[in-house]
Amino acid sequence: MKDIFDFGKKIDDYAVMGNPISHSKSPSIHTLFAEQTQQSVLYTAIHVDLGGFKQAVGNFVASGGKGLNITVPFKQEAWELVSSRSERAERAGAVNTIKIENDQLFGDNTDGVGLVNDLTINHGIELKNKNILLMGAGGAARGVLVPLLKQNPSSLFIVNRTPDRAKDLALDFFDVGNVQGGGYDAIAELKFDIVINATAASLQGELPPLPDTLLNDNASCYDMMYAAKPTPFMLWATEHNAVKVLDGLGMLVEQAAESFYIWRNIKPETKNVIEKLRAELNT
Ligand code: NDP
Repeated sequence: MKDIFDFGKKIDDYAVMGNPISHSKSPSIHTLFAEQTQQSVLYTAIHVDLGGFKQAVGNFVASGGKGLNITVPFKQEAWELVSSRSERAERAGAVNTIKIENDQLFGDNTDGVGLVNDLTINHGIELKNKNILLMGAGGAARGVLVPLLKQNPSSLFIVNRTPDRAKDLALDFFDVGNVQGGGYDAIAELKFDIVINATAASLQGELPPLPDTLLNDNASCYDMMYAAKPTPFMLWATEHNAVKVLDGLGMLVEQAAESFYIWRNIKPETKNVIEKLRAELNT
């Protein structure tokens, strides 16, 4: 345990674990949250070798660490490792937040609530009674399904390059809301109010094959990826007259805020943090 004191209290250790990890913005975000809320928190990034996740978590717990964020590629392993899980983590099949208490690991998944808070609170986009298209059927898509469906959209269609993955994902969540899945040919005649890109296509500079008629009037488009420049999907959305075209920077900060709340029971303010990160991204 550390013997350092800050804000008059002992400093608690938190970290993000992943591979790669050097690019992670989580230490900056949580340090800003800690300063803002005057919490005595030290947050670091830990690079974990493939195959070394369980050991790394064990070492962190033994050193007195209080909580972890988990990122690619360890979210599923974290799900298996924890002693208990929230409902949203249970359904997501992935854990991005671990709270450590009395050597017990509680696992949660804050990605979905991060997305929903960014859409609804930061950008004023109502999800209730809307038709939503979710592109992608990987970990990010699975992680956001319960919080999205709990907003009671009229429908949610999961579209994926490999159609069976989207169909299987929809079947896994049919009890939570009106959700269907299929390939890109299945959306040729459909129209949506909100389109969310949870594919890795933007990372590769690619655009999924979207029909020109996809968007309703006043549609909003959201790419979970973020970068200094608009992604191919964001450029497509602008060309197709979406009224709101957004990237995933707000989601990143909002999921972090939810993790911070789980650990410290205090909700940090996010607007200034998003603005600061945006400014850094653009320099
Ligand atoms: P996965 O590897 O688990 O899934 C990737 C998905 O993208 C699959 O459905 C895959 O389809 C699809 N895909 C990949 N390439 C293409 C392409 N060229 N065209 C169409 N579809 C494609 O990745 P994740 O789900 O973990 O992550 C997806 C994205 O979400 C990443 O960009 C990541 O950065 C972002 N993300 C952002 C977060 C944030 O806080 N802002 C949080 C979490 C994720 P198939 O099944 O056919 O292979």
